[in-house]
Amino acid sequence: MTQPDSNGQFGAYGGQYLPPELKQVMDDIAAAYEEIRNDPAFQQELADLQRHYVGRPSPLYFCRRLTEQLGGAEIYLKREDLNHTGAHKINHCLGEALLAKKMGKTKILAETGAGQHGVALSAACALVGIDCEIHMGSIDIAKQAPNVTRMKVMGARLVSVERGTKTLKDAVDSAFEEYLRDPQNFFYAIGSVVGPHPFPQMVRDFQQVVGEEAREQFLTQYECLPDTLIACVGGGSNAMGLFTAFLDDTSVEIIGVEPSGHGLDTPNHAASLTKGQPGVLHGMRCYLLQDDEGEPLPVYSIASGLDYPGVGPQHSHLKDIGRVQYETASDDDCLNAFVTLSRCEGIIPALESAHALAYAMRIAPQRPGKKLLINLSGRGDKDIDFVAERLQL
Ligand SMILES: *Cc1c(COP(=O)(O)O)cnc(C)c1O
Repeated sequence: MTQPDSNGQFGAYGGQYLPPELKQVMDDIAAAYEEIRNDPAFQQELADLQRHYVGRPSPLYFCRRLTEQLGGAEIYLKREDLNHTGAHKINHCLGEALLAKKMGKTKILAETGAGQHGVALSAACALVGIDCEIHMGSIDIAKQAPNVTRMKVMGARLVSVERGTKTLKDAVDSAFEEYLRDPQNFFYAIGSVVGPHPFPQMVRDFQQVVGEEAREQFLTQYECLPDTLIACVGGGSNAMGLFTAFLDDTSVEIIGVEPSGHGLDTPNHAASLTKGQPGVLHGMRCYLLQDDEGEPLPVYSIASGLDYPGVGPQHSHLKDIGRVQYETASDDDCLNAFVTLSRCEGIIPALESAHALAYAMRIAPQRPGKKLLINLSGRGDKDIDFVAERLQL
């Protein structure tokens, strides 16, 4: 349930759908990763940075007022929004930057949409001392000025992508082309539990500290395990981070929440597990929203971090074997949850995280006495202007 097999597969998903020369590069990364994974000195270095740089462990917080208002289940949050740079992404960016440095790579490359992955990676690269190059569509650059400035201030080189849609999709192509110029010396830092093996495993391993902490915090603070875990799913890294430590706890129900956007019966959603079919994307096999030719469909979510036509291979497998249940929340549900948590608890969630919260708010009234643990994957400061304008606050 937790490991990919020797081919990097989770059941029928994952693997390495790549040309031979890139397969060799990925195998080298897998071998280097295997080495550091079993190296106590590396694990100690990572643990120290998690504690003193990221600010871990993040708190486990009981929402008293929100629980009262919902009148059913108890709502608990794992506060990944309190991490340095404001989300869970720093957990795997730090791991990837350390690995790239250890492998002697000269440059880390990535694309970014809203800029969250770019900011976390820029911070990790500055910390570790390695060059960082971020590709971003020119439309996104115009929309995300604060994140663009953050990346520049931290010393990342920003490449404005002017072709095609001038957004994330073309930024991916642009960053990947640059990577292919010298894959021996460059490191492509994938931003979620997606892509070819070993990335889905590696990013999950770097994130699983979230669930390990939460499990221990629950046992210490409440002397029990939560009844239900809930996390939003874009590529699926924050969800795997929370879920992994609980997969063997058969009493714990696990729910991933995908964005249904304007509705599952419209083209404007990004519910890959709910509405997609198995296919191949970005070097992996996974559930995919695709056309008749297997090309990824354009997808949409109000939360740009959830806006991805595929999903991690381990989630695809967990869906098939039934260990995790996948549900959806719409844009409107998300906005409602965003404002509710802000006003009930003084915590502004990221629009991504608000999807998980929205689903929890939907089921809480029918589940008195149960304990729902939600991964609050990031803070919503980046989203406040958009929401205030949209809701005329
Ligand atoms: C990027 C992002 C997500 C979505 O990515 P996953 O890999 O699915 O976790 C969710 N929440 C926040 C705050 C993000 O920045």
